[in-house]
Amino acid sequence: MPTVADVHCHFFSAGFLEILTKDRADFPAEGRASAVAAHLGWEAPGDPALLADRWAAELDRHKVQRCALIASIPGDETSVATAVSRHPARFVGFFMFNPLAPDAAARLANALGPLGFRAVALFPAMHRYRLDDPAVDAVFEAAAAHGAAVFVHCGVLSVGVRKKLGLPSPFDMRLGDPLAVAALALRHPRVQVIIPHFGAGLFREALMAVDQAPNVHLDTSSSNGWIKYHPGLTLDAVFRQALAVAGADRLLFGTDSSFFPRGWHAPVYEAQRAALSTIGVNAAAAAMIFGGNFERLFPNVHAE
Ligand SMILES: [Zn+2]
Repeated sequence: MPTVADVHCHFFSAGFLEILTKDRADFPAEGRASAVAAHLGWEAPGDPALLADRWAAELDRHKVQRCALIASIPGDETSVATAVSRHPARFVGFFMFNPLAPDAAARLANALGPLGFRAVALFPAMHRYRLDDPAVDAVFEAAAAHGAAVFVHCGVLSVGVRKKLGLPSPFDMRLGDPLAVAALALRHPRVQVIIPHFGAGLFREALMAVDQAPNVHLDTSSSNGWIKYHPGLTLDAVFRQALAVAGADRLLFGTDSSFFPRGWHAPVYEAQRAALSTIGVNAAAAAMIFGGNFERLFPNVHAE
């Protein structure tokens, strides 16, 4: 069986829930992460090492060999670093990073150096900066120096956990533009770039970026609810067009899994398998999308 690797899983650690709700007085200081998880109807994440084991067992259960774990709020890098060091052959660390944060340079150097992260995850709409800000070029330069990738969220951004908690989310979608990502990718040709969710509503622009810059990849993750913005569009048609423009070697399978007890979100995988089968994608191309490309971008340097 070819490798299955998921390029888009969020590590919703205790640290993540604590930082996310730091301004909320209605959760206790002691046992905050468990209280937030209970409020959401989720399992308490507990210790990051044990959550890492939970994830590893979950991947085993679904016969998934490897996945990216995203530290999903600035400041939670150590949780994912703990998970990756516990299962270095299974997990690849990505971290959400705000290039305009006051401690950005030190945080970036620490994450890409000692903490061993292999991709920087940018959310320009969330942190409200322009992708042509020089601080973003500095991120790409650091990524190039460390052989890391850069993930740039574009298009529509809705963060389910923020919505469920009623947290203000004044995102500016205009800032997540695949055309700006293409310009960055062309200036930094050694950096592998990932645009998630086929551009999350900016599908045409994401395809233009892929067409123009050979180092831009698309991830296929989530239920791709953005399809509703295009009359009559289907997941089959999305894959057909993405394959026509990007080719099988620049599409990376992902689910956007995050919390337990839901765990690894198999229905997303099944829907994508079905779409590829419907459009008649051959086994070699499917193997690249579901794992081969991940292995090329993030080679397993820690065979267990
Ligand atoms: Zn996500």
